[in-house]
Amino acid sequence: MSAKLLDGKGLAQTMQAELSGQVAEFSRATGVRPGLAAVLVGDNHPGRVYVRKKQEACAQVGIESWLHELPSSTTQGELLALIARLNAAPAVHGILVQLPLPRHLDEAAIVDAVTPLKDVDGFGPVSLGLLAAGRPRFRACTPYGVLQLLQRNGIDVTGKHVAIVGRSNIVGKPLALMLLLKGADATVTVCHSRTRDVGAITRSADVVVMAIGQANYLKADMVQPGAVVIDVGMNRLPDRRWTGDVDFEPVGAVASAITPVPGGVGPMTVCMLLYNTLQAARLQVGAGPAEPLKQI
Ligand code: NAP
Repeated sequence: MSAKLLDGKGLAQTMQAELSGQVAEFSRATGVRPGLAAVLVGDNHPGRVYVRKKQEACAQVGIESWLHELPSSTTQGELLALIARLNAAPAVHGILVQLPLPRHLDEAAIVDAVTPLKDVDGFGPVSLGLLAAGRPRFRACTPYGVLQLLQRNGIDVTGKHVAIVGRSNIVGKPLALMLLLKGADATVTVCHSRTRDVGAITRSADVVVMAIGQANYLKADMVQPGAVVIDVGMNRLPDRRWTGDVDFEPVGAVASAITPVPGGVGPMTVCMLLYNTLQAARLQVGAGPAEPLKQI
């Protein structure tokens, strides 16, 4: 494989060390420790693993975290009541509702119920609306992590064609909005399941971001030589290994840079959640917004 490996795990560790210093400085200045409340409902095994990783990362950087684990029988009213309590709790600066929720719950209504000042996942309508308006407050963690991974590896997207495959509210759509912000200045195409010829679009792109959840979908003949390939996909193979949406080895022979799965975008997502939680604490204690991250 000739492509440069974009090491999200290593970068996340570097950024978390930076964040530890910022959290300590904030706590010294304000007497407040940033706090993140995680909510996990039902028998969601991958969700439990993700929440545990997020809590471990919080502990590493000095952010307090609490886990509210509720049974699958939880009603919409009970979950909304918990969100209301967390919205009102002064020690809680960020609220993370681990998705997906059990099918009987109205996910959109729960996401909407998180007060916008604590929406550290950046999925809520106010966070997305502010981003669309060009005035981002909390940027969705996975796309924010993708941008940091590009930027801190010296990959400038200004004027470049970025093809995003996948248009979900948590990855593809907010990523497109972030890439369109002044300062990022990319030219963006978003593909989805009704796009006629995904390969024709990805072949014309300088940067391809895959976020569809289909193992090894992006083949080498769908990528132009020298393109940068970012793999957001997380797919569990029958032998329990994780793989992305990119056919890694053959695409790595064509691309100039590529993210591994695991160890690429995933750790960056956790890192950006920590950053957003510090940002939320700063906003709530009136300490002003955190220093914006470079160029984004
Ligand atoms: P999602 O909500 O299921 O959305 C998938 C998107 O892919 C949809 O927009 C869908 O199009 C599109 N799509 C599906 N099949 C397609 C095809 N054959 N050609 C073109 N587009 C296609 O998924 P998500 O939540 O965005 O997650 C996507 C992947 O990223 C999953 O593997 C997930 O596990 C992973 N993920 C990773 C992280 C991380 O931190 N690494 C974070 C979040 C998600 P339609 O809209 O037309 O249905």
